[in-house]
Amino acid sequence: MEVTPNHTQTVAGWAAMNESGKVEPFVFKRRENGVDDVTIKVQYCGMCHTDLHFIQNDWGITMYPLVPGHEITGVVTKVGSNVSSFRVGDRVGVGCIAASCLYCDHCRRSEENYCDKVTLTYNGVFWDGSVTYGGYSRMLVAHKRFVVRVPDTLPLDAAAPLLCAGITVYSPMKHHGMLRSPGGSLGVVGLGGLGHVAVKFAKAFGLRVTVISTSPAKEKEAKERLGADHFVVSTDQKQMQAMERSLDYVIDTVSAKHSLGPILELLKVNGKLVLVAAPDQPVELPSFPLIFGKRTVSGSMTGGMKETQEMLDLCGKHNITCDIELVSTDGINEALARLARNDVRYRFVIDIAGDSNSKL
Ligand code: NAP
Ligand code: ZN
Repeated sequence: MEVTPNHTQTVAGWAAMNESGKVEPFVFKRRENGVDDVTIKVQYCGMCHTDLHFIQNDWGITMYPLVPGHEITGVVTKVGSNVSSFRVGDRVGVGCIAASCLYCDHCRRSEENYCDKVTLTYNGVFWDGSVTYGGYSRMLVAHKRFVVRVPDTLPLDAAAPLLCAGITVYSPMKHHGMLRSPGGSLGVVGLGGLGHVAVKFAKAFGLRVTVISTSPAKEKEAKERLGADHFVVSTDQKQMQAMERSLDYVIDTVSAKHSLGPILELLKVNGKLVLVAAPDQPVELPSFPLIFGKRTVSGSMTGGMKETQEMLDLCGKHNITCDIELVSTDGINEALARLARNDVRYRFVIDIAGDSNSKL
């Protein structure tokens, strides 16, 4: 029996077929544009470390062929008859979520990300049993609920990573009151895609920022371009000790296995650590730094749709975009290899359409 009878649209994209860490051209089907749907010509797609985790099957849950990509920006080419909020030609974005139940308490509060039926933009399963394919592809059909507007002032390429990296750090920063604590101190652990946006948000909201990094070569840029106040090399015990009990908050974005112990020591008594990173191995959580400082460790998974729009609008207002390296579709595999060896400043964005220009 045909499980997906309405999947009639042929789309060209790029997929990982196995755990090799590479993608290849892949042609697949998407559903027709339904009454509540928006069809988007994909212009740009950011390359999140989550893409790499999935491509390599780091978490053991990858369904191949895998079309990654959840930092998508593009232009609307078609809208369904129930769609009044978007028109053909609108500049829009799609992030990590493709579907949710729409009526549970979380969905009602626009915390679709915590709906227990949440379907991710790729490697998820839709209501009809079909697997979701992400933004490493030329066209996307999205339910209107999961589409956001990109403010006119933001370029579609440097805005793309806001759809995951941006909202993933914005949501816990807001939830824990960091955006209402000017003068408070935040430590950002790991200066990659998520980390560099966290620094930018924190500076826009008047926090003092310490970057905690394994890469001494990032110090100059972190301070001069991103505006960080301090930079600590996490492998240097002296530097770490000098920072003990100095921070109100920490956001941990380190994509590899590590211990939270030395990071917790940097927090004041009562300080809060938010873990957004998802390494393939459990992080170490020694109890002494936790109990001696009455500290809290929490997690956070992307953000809801209302909050995503709010974050984009704020970025439009404060002119916050990501620092990107644009890659052509021929360069995806090289970019993946560089991302794997922590060689990116600070996000690769794929120029999917290839015909794009900066005015879009
Ligand atoms: P990224 O751009 O690769 O940045 C990760 C940073 O971690 C690197 O820049 C590096 O910073 C540090 N790092 C890498 N390898 C390390 C190692 N072996 N030891 C210590 N530090 C290391 O990754 P990203 O896209 O920001 O994503 C970060 C993590 O968040 C990933 O695990 C990703 O899956 C996860 N994520 C979670 C969510 C969510 O909803 N919670 C959303 C998106 C991503 P330094 O060079 O400064 O040390
Ligand atoms: Zn992501």
